[in-house]
Amino acid sequence: MKQIQIGGLVSFTTIDYPGKLAAVLFLCGCPFHCVYCSNEHLIPVGEGEYDPDKIFDWLKARVGKLEGVVFSGGEALMQADATIEYMKRVKDLGFAIGLHTNGFYPDLMKKIENIVDWVGLDFKTTRRNYKELVGLDIAYDRMIESLKYWVSTGRGLEVRTTCDPRFVSKEDLLEIAKISSDLGVKNFAVQKYTPYHEDENAQTTPADREQFFNDEELKKKIESLFETVIWRNN
Ligand code: SF4
Repeated sequence: MKQIQIGGLVSFTTIDYPGKLAAVLFLCGCPFHCVYCSNEHLIPVGEGEYDPDKIFDWLKARVGKLEGVVFSGGEALMQADATIEYMKRVKDLGFAIGLHTNGFYPDLMKKIENIVDWVGLDFKTTRRNYKELVGLDIAYDRMIESLKYWVSTGRGLEVRTTCDPRFVSKEDLLEIAKISSDLGVKNFAVQKYTPYHEDENAQTTPADREQFFNDEELKKKIESLFETVIWRNN
């Protein structure tokens, strides 16, 4: 089996795994080409900059100091078995395992059910806008399949939508929230879009990007659908 390719590391975070002090590993490879991607260097599977054995030793030394390790990307499941094997090793150290995913690999979600404790799943936009945003027309259906499966496991889940006004309107956000709630999602997060590429700056205004966070009626409607809603407005 090819060894896992790790392209980035955050050694300490309190925001990437709700309620836990965690490290984040950014794995190489992603099947999407999201218009606003700020991790483009991670899209090719390529060679990771970090030695997985050294990272493992580093994690071993953090037992008792950190509570969780989040596998992010890129798309962490694109490396399939290499990711799953490494997750198992890290779990055996006693860490809770988190996964940030775009939901493109529902079959692999089934394989990680007993390894991953918490998933942050991107529900990027409505079905009509998905392909234009991520570049793949099967992405929406696969994400919904992953979502349904993970809800059925009863394990930790947060569904999150980054509100890029070019692809998500306030009506779209409410639609996404309703679909998620109808599918049994209890925890939802609304994330602010921040332009990353220079040519994106002029395409939306600060007011466009803020509109999701200062509409009290919209907020109330969304909050009525879930047990928790996090508004990530920064
Ligand atoms: S899913 Fe994430 S890493 Fe992949 S292209 Fe989209 S924003 Fe970038």
